[in-house]
Amino acid sequence: MNYKVDVCIVGAGPGGALLAYLLAKKDVSVLLLEQHAAVGKAFRGEHLNEEGETILKEHGLFEQVEKQGLLRMEKLEYWHGGKPFKTILPDPQIGHLGIHVPQIHLLSVLLEAAEEYPSYSSMMNTKVVELLKDESGNYHGVRAMRDGEEMVIDCQLVVGADGRYSTVRKKAEIETTIRKHGFDLLWARIPAPDNWEPSIRMALIGDKQLSLFTQAKGYIQIGWNIEEGSFPKLRKQPFTPFIDQLVEAFPELEETVRDSIQSWKDFVLLDVFSSTSKSWGNKGVALIGDAVHTMTPTGAFGLNSSLKDADFLASLIDKNLISKLNNMECANQRKLEVEKLQAIQIEKEQTFALNFVVAV
Ligand SMILES: Cc1cc2nc3c(=O)[nH]c(=O)nc-3n(C[C@H](O)[C@H](O)[C@H](O)COP(=O)(O)OP(=O)(O)OC[C@H]3O[C@@H](n4cnc5c(N)ncnc54)[C@H](O)[C@@H]3O)c2cc1C
Repeated sequence: MNYKVDVCIVGAGPGGALLAYLLAKKDVSVLLLEQHAAVGKAFRGEHLNEEGETILKEHGLFEQVEKQGLLRMEKLEYWHGGKPFKTILPDPQIGHLGIHVPQIHLLSVLLEAAEEYPSYSSMMNTKVVELLKDESGNYHGVRAMRDGEEMVIDCQLVVGADGRYSTVRKKAEIETTIRKHGFDLLWARIPAPDNWEPSIRMALIGDKQLSLFTQAKGYIQIGWNIEEGSFPKLRKQPFTPFIDQLVEAFPELEETVRDSIQSWKDFVLLDVFSSTSKSWGNKGVALIGDAVHTMTPTGAFGLNSSLKDADFLASLIDKNLISKLNNMECANQRKLEVEKLQAIQIEKEQTFALNFVVAV
């Protein structure tokens, strides 16, 4: 099957979905490709900060997301010995310390908004495997597979919004530098006890961060940093002493933790890294979000940065001048900003234990 559009976006994560909507609204013919059969299947962060919130509000999307369900974090607490010893409240101008938005809510609002425009189309269950290149080295489309069938999409611009392991970035031979952060992350979700307040709670286990994030619809997400590469060894050790540390840090959670996390299998392991790329695209390819600058979970910046990249790239794209898009503008505007956030992530990670000095 062959298709022809102005812009082909690879990846229906927050960055790709927002860009698809913004371009469709500008009457740019846009095709969004996603390898999963439905959106919201990829594992990703769900905390929106005020930057992401502002973008959604500017484009009239926030209200819809709020209708689907979200939860504003009312405080950040540092805990030691089973008690909070330091509480951070939100800046009254902002009114929260992050908003939990289930990814399915965010993505479905973005895609339903895009569906309103005839210039938008999408294909799920479609994996991009190759870029098409002409004799002068310019990219003019992608080759993708759906249910064993090959399809060719011809376009003026390919946008790689395909996340941390980006195929588009690799196929366009854009160099990337990966940085490891010295920790991996164990991730689990448990039901919140009754009357649990919408909050973020942090504790120090050994020298590692343990975080609880209240989620919409009555859940708590647990993020537990462990030594980089240590999980295979850790999971050979008895589970109970490990999980006891979580119960000791947050005693009110004893019942729900013991019911929901009964073995190592109840944790998901995440390989934590960040990356920067030499270029944000060239010759008919543009990269946004984690594809060009993978973020670690620290500080909840990644999803928000993808939304900002999409917003800025959309502002540069003119329906009649797509082939004239100057990717340098995107890189010039966004690269420094993102690199500052990545530096903040490293600082937060390296100084996390200092938050507990008064407590120990
Ligand atoms: C544990 C964890 C917690 C985090 N918490 C937060 C948080 O609270 N707040 C925050 O702002 N950030 C957070 N982040 C970071 C955030 O998840 C990412 O920065 C964000 O999802 C990046 O969005 P994106 O649209 O660029 O890419 P992604 O969300 O990775 O989406 C890429 C999409 O591309 C698709 N795709 C990939 N390859 C192909 C292909 N070849 N063909 C077709 N489709 C393809 C994928 O299936 C996926 O749907 C967290 C990250 C982790 C790992």
